[in-house]
Amino acid sequence: MLRTAEITAELSGLEDPHHRFYWRPRLEFSVDCFICERTGRTTLFEHEAERALCSGSRSGFQRHHTAGRIAAFDTTSGREREAVRALVDFWWAPFTDTRDGREAAAPTSRPWVRLHFGYMCPEADESGAGSIQTNLVRPYHPTCKHCDRRLGVDGETPSVRLLT
Ligand SMILES: [Zn+2]
Ligand SMILES: [Zn+2]
Repeated sequence: MLRTAEITAELSGLEDPHHRFYWRPRLEFSVDCFICERTGRTTLFEHEAERALCSGSRSGFQRHHTAGRIAAFDTTSGREREAVRALVDFWWAPFTDTRDGREAAAPTSRPWVRLHFGYMCPEADESGAGSIQTNLVRPYHPTCKHCDRRLGVDGETPSVRLLT
C-alpha cells in the first residue's frame, strides 16, 4: 500500500547570509523494504526521480530500485533560518524480516533520515555541501569546508510523521 511520510527539518542561526545556505532536493530515509524483506533499509530519494534506491544489505540483496519518490519538496526562508518540508511516498507491504524475524512497519520502528544541503563560500568563491541526520549530537554546528566558519545551528532532530 502507498504510504506518505512528512519529513521536516530546520537550520537556524544562519548568522552569515553570505554563505547562501540551501536545502538540496535529495534525502535518505529508512524504510522497511518489501523487496529485500529487511527492516530499516537506508533508501535514497531524489526529487523528480520516478523511483527510489534501496541500499540493500551487506550480505545478500544488493542495492536495488524500489517504489518511492519525493512527492513534494518545499523550503522556507525565515529570519536567520531555512526550513525544509518533504513529502515522501513509498510503497509498503507487510513481511517478516528474513534475518531478525521483526515485523515490517510503516514508518519503520525507529525512523532515520539524512537531509542534504549546499552553500557557496564567499571567501573561497566555491560551493560546498553537507548533510544533517537523525543520529547526531545536538546542537550540531555544520561548518564551511573552505573557511571553517559556522553555517548555522542544527538544534532539533528532523521530524518524521506518517500522513497516510
Ligand atoms: Zn530493499
Ligand atoms: Zn566559507
